[in-house]
Amino acid sequence: MQITVVCEQNGAMLSPEGKKAYPEGLGSCLKGMLEEAGHNVTLVTIGEEGAAALTDEIIGGTDVMFWWGHWYHGKVSDEIVAKVADRALRGMGMVFLHSAHDSKIFKRLLGSSCSLKWREDGEHERLWCTDMTHPIARGLGEYIDIPREEMYGEPFDIPTPDELVYIGWFRGGEVFRGGCVFRRGAGKLFYFNPGHETYPTYKLPAVRQLLRQACAYVAPALPIKGEICCPHVEQFSVKE
Ligand code: ZN
Repeated sequence: MQITVVCEQNGAMLSPEGKKAYPEGLGSCLKGMLEEAGHNVTLVTIGEEGAAALTDEIIGGTDVMFWWGHWYHGKVSDEIVAKVADRALRGMGMVFLHSAHDSKIFKRLLGSSCSLKWREDGEHERLWCTDMTHPIARGLGEYIDIPREEMYGEPFDIPTPDELVYIGWFRGGEVFRGGCVFRRGAGKLFYFNPGHETYPTYKLPAVRQLLRQACAYVAPALPIKGEICCPHVEQFSVKE
């Protein structure tokens, strides 16, 4: 499949902690994770200039798009958001990671504020699987432990997920719907909360397996539609 990883390059990633977590860059780590599964992966970097590098050609050729953003959500143009949303509704799969909950494109597809509680404290997160039959959770057991992560807690202002696969629990006592599938138009999207840029969460074998399975799950089941429309039709009634 043709995968596009849209990932920010921000100041926290260039800090000593960020460089220690991902010496190769967080986006390159995600790219490598998906290439290991045999996909063709294009990495698009978001920065001060927004997502200008996300061209029509890249969007139009993508089967599944991963999105990681944090500092520069506001820099991504509404025009690009509209183009990505259009393709998502026509069948392109999407995987939103960590602080992508606050991205324009996630909020547009879900239609709510997507706000949540948070505390950056390097806490242990245990992600409990709520549906062990789900393809995203295949072979991963009852729970996944993440040694250090940013706490994301309820209330999480999202619509009720179409499929809830994981609930995260933190040492502070908070819980969070951290692995959710939503169906929008002809497409599917998956949200996954772990992945703060200064903790090496995307190096964990269980997380890498989970995200590769999520990629396969949200992949288009049918060819992506050319357009979203309800055509005018002639009389459908059976003629005598
Ligand atoms: Zn974070």
